[in-house]
Amino acid sequence: MSEPVRPKTGNLRWRDVDVRAYKQEPDVPYRDVTRQVLFDDPALASQLRYFEVAPGGYTTLERHEHAHAVVIQRGRGRVLVGERVFEVREHDLVHVPALAWHQFRAAHDAPLGFLCMVNATRDRPQLPTPDDLARLCTLPAIAAFLGG
Ligand code: MN
Repeated sequence: MSEPVRPKTGNLRWRDVDVRAYKQEPDVPYRDVTRQVLFDDPALASQLRYFEVAPGGYTTLERHEHAHAVVIQRGRGRVLVGERVFEVREHDLVHVPALAWHQFRAAHDAPLGFLCMVNATRDRPQLPTPDDLARLCTLPAIAAFLGG
Protein backbone atom coordinates (compact mmCIF):
# COMPACT_ATOMS: atom_id res chain seq x y z
CA MET A 1 0.00 0.00 0.00
CA SER A 2 1.39 3.36 -0.94
CA GLU A 3 1.66 6.41 1.29
CA PRO A 4 -1.51 8.49 1.79
CA VAL A 5 0.20 11.41 0.11
CA ARG A 6 2.51 11.03 -2.88
CA PRO A 7 3.82 14.46 -3.79
CA LYS A 8 4.16 15.69 -7.32
CA THR A 9 7.70 15.40 -8.66
CA GLY A 10 7.19 17.37 -11.87
CA ASN A 11 4.56 18.49 -14.31
CA LEU A 12 1.93 15.73 -14.01
CA ARG A 13 4.44 13.33 -12.50
CA TRP A 14 4.22 11.87 -8.99
CA ARG A 15 6.41 10.04 -6.47
CA ASP A 16 6.06 6.24 -6.70
CA VAL A 17 4.05 6.42 -9.93
CA ASP A 18 5.82 4.79 -12.88
CA VAL A 19 5.50 6.27 -16.34
CA ARG A 20 4.67 3.23 -18.48
CA ALA A 21 3.92 2.38 -22.06
CA TYR A 22 0.29 2.97 -22.92
CA LYS A 23 -0.44 -0.67 -23.78
CA GLN A 24 1.47 -3.92 -23.61
CA GLU A 25 -0.37 -5.69 -26.42
CA PRO A 26 1.59 -5.97 -29.66
CA ASP A 27 -0.03 -4.91 -32.94
CA VAL A 28 -2.42 -2.43 -31.33
CA PRO A 29 -2.10 0.86 -33.19
CA TYR A 30 -1.27 4.00 -31.21
CA ARG A 31 1.47 6.62 -31.21
CA ASP A 32 3.41 8.37 -28.44
CA VAL A 33 1.22 7.69 -25.41
CA THR A 34 2.30 7.14 -21.80
CA ARG A 35 0.22 5.77 -18.92
CA GLN A 36 0.43 6.34 -15.17
CA VAL A 37 -1.86 4.49 -12.78
CA LEU A 38 -2.61 6.95 -9.97
CA PHE A 39 -5.18 5.03 -7.92
CA ASP A 40 -5.83 1.29 -8.04
CA ASP A 41 -7.50 0.45 -4.70
CA PRO A 42 -9.80 -2.61 -4.90
CA ALA A 43 -12.10 -0.88 -2.39
CA LEU A 44 -12.88 1.71 -5.06
CA ALA A 45 -13.67 -0.87 -7.79
CA SER A 46 -12.16 1.62 -10.21
CA GLN A 47 -8.83 2.91 -11.44
CA LEU A 48 -7.73 6.47 -12.06
CA ARG A 49 -5.05 6.79 -14.72
CA TYR A 50 -3.22 9.70 -16.29
CA PHE A 51 -2.46 9.37 -19.99
CA GLU A 52 -0.35 11.72 -22.01
CA VAL A 53 -0.32 11.81 -25.78
CA ALA A 54 2.69 13.64 -27.28
CA PRO A 55 2.13 16.21 -30.05
CA GLY A 56 0.91 14.41 -33.17
CA GLY A 57 0.21 11.21 -31.23
CA TYR A 58 -3.02 9.31 -30.73
CA THR A 59 -4.58 6.58 -28.61
CA THR A 60 -6.00 3.38 -30.07
CA LEU A 61 -9.33 3.62 -31.89
CA GLU A 62 -11.44 1.15 -29.88
CA ARG A 63 -14.72 0.44 -28.16
CA HIS A 64 -15.79 -1.68 -25.18
CA GLU A 65 -18.66 -2.30 -22.77
CA HIS A 66 -17.07 -0.23 -20.00
CA ALA A 67 -17.30 3.56 -19.98
CA HIS A 68 -14.63 6.21 -19.49
CA ALA A 69 -14.82 9.45 -17.50
CA VAL A 70 -12.07 11.80 -18.70
CA VAL A 71 -10.80 15.17 -17.50
CA ILE A 72 -8.37 16.93 -19.83
CA GLN A 73 -5.39 18.15 -17.77
CA ARG A 74 -2.88 19.45 -20.26
CA GLY A 75 -2.69 20.74 -23.80
CA ARG A 76 -5.30 20.29 -26.46
CA GLY A 77 -6.43 18.08 -29.26
CA ARG A 78 -9.46 16.34 -30.70
CA VAL A 79 -11.55 13.45 -29.52
CA LEU A 80 -13.74 11.02 -31.43
CA VAL A 81 -16.70 9.78 -29.38
CA GLY A 82 -19.25 7.63 -31.16
CA GLU A 83 -19.76 9.29 -34.53
CA ARG A 84 -18.71 12.81 -33.55
CA VAL A 85 -15.42 14.70 -33.33
CA PHE A 86 -14.81 17.38 -30.68
CA GLU A 87 -12.06 19.88 -29.98
CA VAL A 88 -10.87 19.56 -26.37
CA ARG A 89 -8.60 21.58 -24.10
CA GLU A 90 -7.55 21.77 -20.45
CA HIS A 91 -10.30 20.97 -17.93
CA ASP A 92 -12.89 19.83 -20.46
CA LEU A 93 -14.83 16.73 -19.42
CA VAL A 94 -15.30 13.82 -21.82
CA HIS A 95 -17.70 10.94 -21.25
CA VAL A 96 -17.25 7.85 -23.40
CA PRO A 97 -20.36 5.67 -23.09
CA ALA A 98 -20.49 1.89 -23.46
CA LEU A 99 -19.64 0.63 -26.95
CA ALA A 100 -18.87 4.08 -28.38
CA TRP A 101 -15.88 4.18 -30.73
CA HIS A 102 -13.30 6.55 -29.27
CA GLN A 103 -9.86 7.94 -29.92
CA PHE A 104 -7.87 10.83 -28.43
CA ARG A 105 -5.53 12.79 -30.72
CA ALA A 106 -3.10 15.46 -29.53
CA ALA A 107 -2.68 18.63 -31.59
CA HIS A 108 0.40 18.69 -33.82
CA ASP A 109 1.92 21.45 -31.67
CA ALA A 110 0.70 20.49 -28.19
CA PRO A 111 0.40 17.38 -26.03
CA LEU A 112 -2.91 16.06 -24.76
CA GLY A 113 -2.87 14.86 -21.14
CA PHE A 114 -5.94 13.53 -19.38
CA LEU A 115 -7.16 11.75 -16.29
CA CYS A 116 -9.30 8.71 -17.07
CA MET A 117 -11.50 6.89 -14.57
CA VAL A 118 -12.43 3.33 -15.44
CA ASN A 119 -13.87 0.19 -13.83
CA ALA A 120 -11.21 -2.02 -12.24
CA THR A 121 -12.90 -5.07 -13.78
CA ARG A 122 -13.65 -4.43 -17.43
CA ASP A 123 -13.96 -6.06 -20.81
CA ARG A 124 -11.15 -6.00 -23.34
CA PRO A 125 -11.20 -3.28 -25.99
CA GLN A 126 -12.45 -4.23 -29.44
CA LEU A 127 -10.60 -2.88 -32.47
CA PRO A 128 -12.50 -1.83 -35.59
CA THR A 129 -12.84 -4.35 -38.42
CA PRO A 130 -12.20 -3.10 -41.96
CA ASP A 131 -16.00 -2.87 -42.33
CA ASP A 132 -16.29 -0.79 -39.13
CA LEU A 133 -13.58 1.55 -40.42
CA ALA A 134 -15.21 1.89 -43.82
CA ARG A 135 -18.54 2.73 -42.17
CA LEU A 136 -16.94 5.31 -39.83
CA CYS A 137 -15.09 6.89 -42.76
CA THR A 138 -18.32 7.52 -44.67
CA LEU A 139 -18.66 10.46 -42.26
CA PRO A 140 -16.34 13.21 -43.62
CA ALA A 141 -15.49 14.60 -40.16
CA ILE A 142 -14.39 11.15 -39.01
CA ALA A 143 -12.46 10.40 -42.19
CA ALA A 144 -10.56 13.69 -41.72
CA PHE A 145 -10.00 12.96 -38.02
CA LEU A 146 -8.63 9.45 -38.62
CA GLY A 147 -6.46 10.77 -41.44
CA GLY A 148 -4.61 12.88 -38.86
MN1 MN B 1 -10.98 2.92 -24.17
